[in-house]
Amino acid sequence: MNVKLHLGIDDTDSMKGGCTTYIAALLVYEYSKLGVSWMDYPNLVRLNPNIPWKTRGNGAVSLRFEVDKSMIDDVVDVALKVIEKESMIDDENVDPVLAVYRGCITDELRRFAYLAETEVVDVEYALKLADSLGVARWVFRNPRGLVGALAAIGEDLRGDYTYELIAYRTFSMRGKPRMIDPGSVIAMDEATRGETYANIDPETGRILVTPRGMDPVLYGIRGETPEAVYRAHRFIKSYEEVERWVIFRSNQCTDAHLKSKRTISSLKPYVAAVLEGVVSDRPRIIPGGHVIFKLSDGTGTIDCAVYEPTGRLRVIASKLVDGDRVRVYGGVKPFDKGLTFNIEKIEVLEARAITRIMNPLCPYCGRRMKSAGLGKGFRCGRCGFRDRGSAKIEIYMDRDLKPGLYLPPPRAFRHLTKPIERYGREKTGGVVWFYPWHEP
Ligand code: ATP
Repeated sequence: MNVKLHLGIDDTDSMKGGCTTYIAALLVYEYSKLGVSWMDYPNLVRLNPNIPWKTRGNGAVSLRFEVDKSMIDDVVDVALKVIEKESMIDDENVDPVLAVYRGCITDELRRFAYLAETEVVDVEYALKLADSLGVARWVFRNPRGLVGALAAIGEDLRGDYTYELIAYRTFSMRGKPRMIDPGSVIAMDEATRGETYANIDPETGRILVTPRGMDPVLYGIRGETPEAVYRAHRFIKSYEEVERWVIFRSNQCTDAHLKSKRTISSLKPYVAAVLEGVVSDRPRIIPGGHVIFKLSDGTGTIDCAVYEPTGRLRVIASKLVDGDRVRVYGGVKPFDKGLTFNIEKIEVLEARAITRIMNPLCPYCGRRMKSAGLGKGFRCGRCGFRDRGSAKIEIYMDRDLKPGLYLPPPRAFRHLTKPIERYGREKTGGVVWFYPWHEP
């Protein structure tokens, strides 16, 4: 008899190496050999990016397939062997967890995933939920990884989603510079524009598909469809061997963490939030080039920070004035006994009109007139025209800031940031298979 299995894996890597997606890629190969019936591409689920104890991008993975009941033990054995071999288990901050759930995803699991994408989740809560749903788990050290493993199971991507094709390097190349032809990335970017995202940073020309750490990822291409990421992958010229590649379905590039509108008084450290309010003092630039301004929403006031690496977003923030109405997207960080809101996106809802009181212009020569003395009107310094009846006028200043949504450049994106090209392209719906989706 076939059963539906969902495997969730998290917390296998450290800054010294490893990658939970690589473990998933190895398991895709092993389970395909076992003859499982895949229900989905492997899912790469990004969780709350504001969690301070994440290694890099707070990613967890899940694998979903049907298999004969008699094979469950084999499935678990294979996963445990791969996790034991590939996890950076010697690092004491690495707490790998494998969670295995049988059946259909429940709304409770989906709610749990949503919490893990937007807030800080208590491990106790994860343990309780796992118990109540009969989720089996294998904890290698500390159960903290269960939060990510369970969230990866619960996020079945019924809402918006994208794809990422990740190509991995061979063991002997780990830690060495990645040998990819930059020209082939530029060609790929041009050929797949609108279908793949954030391949190159347009301002700096920096190639973004290759990570820079010790992990086994050679490159990752994000896009709208599996066809698009596969086509893009075929463009890339690599001077080192690609050991394997897999297409993941993912919540990356969907703003999954930025769905909760909150009030300032309700904010807690490390939550992701959308705030709406009024700028309550002029932005100031602090050492390092970061822009700070205060936002008030009637329930409270918070310092908003736009950091220097966010490039043009920082320029937009510096043009705000008190009284502007904005919607800001980002995460809460504790700072100096209070809280700061770190901005990822700004939506200017209303740029307040700024006026200045000035002397009137001369109707004959267009020059700004001078006061002729108290109660004596104005006089033109160029043509001598005098107007006793004229008064100062109110001039509207050019704000150089239009209402609209502003994002940082791609080099400053978080994994979850929805690029501007994806607005209006959000999709829902079941899995559509594309072949090949992994190799080997
Ligand atoms: P990588 O992206 O390279 O895979 P990472 O950044 O995902 O690494 P992990 O090593 O997985 O980092 O560590 C993140 C840890 O935080 C995991 O133990 C995970 O269970 C936990 N975690 C993730 N999201 C939350 C959350 N919202 N609340 C509490 N704990 C969380």
